Amino acid sequence: MRNRRAALAAIAGAASLALALTACGQDSEGGSKENTGSAEGGTIGIAMPTKSSERWIADGNNVVKDLRSKGYKTKLVYGEDDPDQQVSQIENLITQGVKALIVAAIDNKSLNNVLQQAKDANIPVIAYDRLILGTANVDYYASFDNTKVGELQATYIVDKLGLKDGKGPFNIELFAGSNDDNNTKYFFNGAMSVLKPYIDSKKLVVQSGQTGLTQVTTLRWDGATAQKRMDDILTKSYKSKKVDAVLSPYDGISIGILSALKSDDYGSKSKPLPVLTGQDAELASVKSIIAGQQTQTVYKDTRELAKIASNMVDAVLGGKKPETNDTTTYDNGSKVVPAYLLEPVNVDKTNYQQVLVDGGYYKESDLG
Ligand code: BGC
Repeated sequence: MRNRRAALAAIAGAASLALALTACGQDSEGGSKENTGSAEGGTIGIAMPTKSSERWIADGNNVVKDLRSKGYKTKLVYGEDDPDQQVSQIENLITQGVKALIVAAIDNKSLNNVLQQAKDANIPVIAYDRLILGTANVDYYASFDNTKVGELQATYIVDKLGLKDGKGPFNIELFAGSNDDNNTKYFFNGAMSVLKPYIDSKKLVVQSGQTGLTQVTTLRWDGATAQKRMDDILTKSYKSKKVDAVLSPYDGISIGILSALKSDDYGSKSKPLPVLTGQDAELASVKSIIAGQQTQTVYKDTRELAKIASNMVDAVLGGKKPETNDTTTYDNGSKVVPAYLLEPVNVDKTNYQQVLVDGGYYKESDLG
């Protein structure tokens, strides 16, 4: 595709350059404004879920950057965690004639109609990070090994508590993500595959009794909602007991849980903070980890994910088959969506420097 576009660009010459210059700075909402692409590949629509979390801002910017470097223009929109808004944003992108769509869904089941419109307009769709369910109109899926995310969080808890050395029993509470995000069950089931044997043998005790996925989800991954639930649990189930670990699926939720814990005097000499997991290596959480509060996070390099998604778009539009590494796991109820899954990485106080700073994700000065 790149060669073909290069050849076309050479032929079109000044005309194509003029087109690119006209496009300068006008083609991306929320993305970087500089025009690094020559735009002869057409415009790609990118629908992200929310700007309330750093990771999605980084995802959007990285996808824009990668697509531009491949010669595409971009339109980047954020749905502010409102499924209806995301549907109308995608409708607009289709009307504006985008050549392909990259979508990180807010509600995995609300996009079926709009993706039918995409199909009718011959627009390929890449599900970004979150699988879209119940429609055949998803061409490829770019994500991380979502089961592994949960396994990493739970294994960290098991190791930190010394459960394998026979220590315990310990008290644990469980939190999961939004029930309309397909990743939620993968994270939770991955974690429970590690924790359940200890819960069954009573080495881990969930004092609230809330162990089923439907009891522990957090709508739209909202930190305040998690904080409230943790407050309630501490009041009802921990009057005379201490919680030793909290499984949290996402840094924004972990920060909410941490607030509830601190309000209940956790973090003082007599009441150490529990082991507290997270996900996304968001700045506030990495700082919290360095300060000895949140204990762990799962780092997912959004630069790599953006590359995978951009490569998928470029391949599909070039009539090629994108590279995938998983063609069995992600059944969306309508078909198994071919996927490329990246590896998530466990991060805590001992390796944040090496993984996040040496890896160029953060500068030392960001964390100071
Ligand atoms: C993503 C996570 C993120 C969560 C909340 C999930 O779909 O995979 O990385 O923490 O959404 O934004």
